[in-house]
Amino acid sequence: MSFIETDEQKALRAAVAQLAAKYNFRDYVRPKAMKNEPLSELWDEAGELGFLGVNLPEEYGGGGAGIYELAIVLEELSAQGAGLLLMVVSPAICGTIITKYGTEAQKQNWLPRIGDGTAKMVFGITEPDAGSNSHKITTTARRDGDDWILNGRKIFISGVDQAEAVLIVARTEDAKTGNLKPALFIVPTDAPGFVKNRQEMDIIEPDSQFTLFLDDVRLPATALVGQEDAAIAQLFAGLNPERIMGSAMAVGMGRYAIDRAVEYAKERQVWKTPIGAHQGISHPLAQVKIELELAKLMMQKAAVLYDSGDDFGAAEAANMAKYAAAEASIKALDQAIQTHGGAGLTADVGLGGMLAASRIARVAPVSREMILNFVAQHSLGLPRSY
Ligand SMILES: Cc1cc2nc3c(=O)[nH]c(=O)nc-3n(C[C@H](O)[C@H](O)[C@H](O)COP(=O)(O)OP(=O)(O)OC[C@H]3O[C@@H](n4cnc5c(N)ncnc54)[C@H](O)[C@@H]3O)c2cc1C
Repeated sequence: MSFIETDEQKALRAAVAQLAAKYNFRDYVRPKAMKNEPLSELWDEAGELGFLGVNLPEEYGGGGAGIYELAIVLEELSAQGAGLLLMVVSPAICGTIITKYGTEAQKQNWLPRIGDGTAKMVFGITEPDAGSNSHKITTTARRDGDDWILNGRKIFISGVDQAEAVLIVARTEDAKTGNLKPALFIVPTDAPGFVKNRQEMDIIEPDSQFTLFLDDVRLPATALVGQEDAAIAQLFAGLNPERIMGSAMAVGMGRYAIDRAVEYAKERQVWKTPIGAHQGISHPLAQVKIELELAKLMMQKAAVLYDSGDDFGAAEAANMAKYAAAEASIKALDQAIQTHGGAGLTADVGLGGMLAASRIARVAPVSREMILNFVAQHSLGLPRSY
């Protein structure tokens, strides 16, 4: 592992930053977020430029790079306040799982379109009664001839209104109880029996969450991705990228917050020096800058491990990175608001709404407490309470 990014990676960062400056937070993102409208123009242009598919194989139109590069894209967009939440699910989770386990037909149908952004596939694992305990999911797939019939409920599924399909995590009837043996299905959002309802969230963000009802949704055999009951490895193949991308979004948001705070702290003067000269203002910003850089370093380690095929090593690092990035970005937003004084809570500055949005990373895709459980059990070897 090198700490020095290649010329290609640096060029990617610069090109994404340039695009993100055009679709920046104040002029583009915040007005959209206030209306709960997706960032479609940014998504489309990022797709045309090849940014959304950098991790996907070249033979299917992707960039042939890794999750490291996809994380660069999301971090740089988020650093302008223009993070695209659905990058976490469409190219990172679904794109990865289909690349690794999809049939040739699934790859040909989906990967080029996920990569150029013309199709979005979102991801549904969370259920109302199972929550963090994925082993308790009850969405069930039953065979009917060659077809599958799906029944179940999902909650908090992001971006279903924008998506052509949802990659649904279910279990087969034969594996209805016990530890989860997931079966993954590509479920078109216009399938009969597929019902989505927008959830009223109390956060200002462009993308929406949905509850899903799957009521006898009939799918052809070709909807199954990979094995029908040995898919835990397949599922995990998508979860490390998800955590790395969650970290990238949080690190980027934290950078945005610090940049705004530093800008303001240099120019705002109420005594004889700019407020940034007061250590009460500069030290907390310096501290969170350090915490953010440490989180980023762990994210880069996770991405390098993942891209080199070390899934287990990547899992520990990806969990730690997601934890650290979420905590650092929430702290950065909070401190940026404090740095601005009253202005930090105005609509014009927009940091208040972003603080609420930054808290998503403490809960999703896996909560802070479940990461601490992972580290306690896997890294420290402590017994579990649940
Ligand atoms: C904005 C947003 C977008 C999302 N998008 C998606 C999506 O696209 N697809 C998808 O499938 N899901 C999505 N989710 C769901 C998200 O992954 C879950 O909210 C998350 O995994 C936590 O599950 P839960 O909300 O059911 O909390 P619960 O599992 O009910 O947990 C509640 C609290 O208890 C704690 N807790 C639970 N078990 C333990 C334990 N053993 N030890 C210690 N503490 C524990 C949790 O950490 C949490 O603090 C999204 C959520 C949000 C908020």
